[in-house]
Amino acid sequence: MKKTSGQLRNLGSSKPLNSHELRPMNHTATPCMPLTQAQQQALLQAARAAQRQAYAPYSHYPVGAAVLDDQGRIHAGCNVENAAYPEGLCAEAAALAAMVLAGSTRVQAVLVVGQGGKNNSIWTTPCGGCRQKLREFGAPGLPILCANDTDLGPGYTLAQLLPESFGPDHLGTP
Ligand SMILES: [Zn+2]
Repeated sequence: MKKTSGQLRNLGSSKPLNSHELRPMNHTATPCMPLTQAQQQALLQAARAAQRQAYAPYSHYPVGAAVLDDQGRIHAGCNVENAAYPEGLCAEAAALAAMVLAGSTRVQAVLVVGQGGKNNSIWTTPCGGCRQKLREFGAPGLPILCANDTDLGPGYTLAQLLPESFGPDHLGTP
């Protein structure tokens, strides 16, 4: 017992990281490709249409997502909740599943539509789990746009929402 507590003390007293060590890694956070106005509009339309189909009887927080794949195609998804709460599905996950089903595994842009951004509320962004799901198929510069049913909100890159992330490149696949 004494030995264990000594080890814990040693861990606790290890010197803090200096500012150099805390500096972000040198990977790009710039969008991988500029979205055309037409692509953005198409994503917005698809995500809003998906949001209207959401099954969200518990949270009353319908979400729609649309992804643009590497072939220029758009795939949409909505959240699908479940009485057994953890079994619910996010809109982004549904959109990615549709993309994979259609034969693509590269996402070029994402647009998420939720209730955020209204009455000074926080914009709807992908949850942590979905950020990781997007990481599987997107580059660090993947543009992630936020919107609601009337306005376009802020835009981010995947690297901004999921910094220093773990992905397929760590495993050398695919
Ligand atoms: Zn999610």
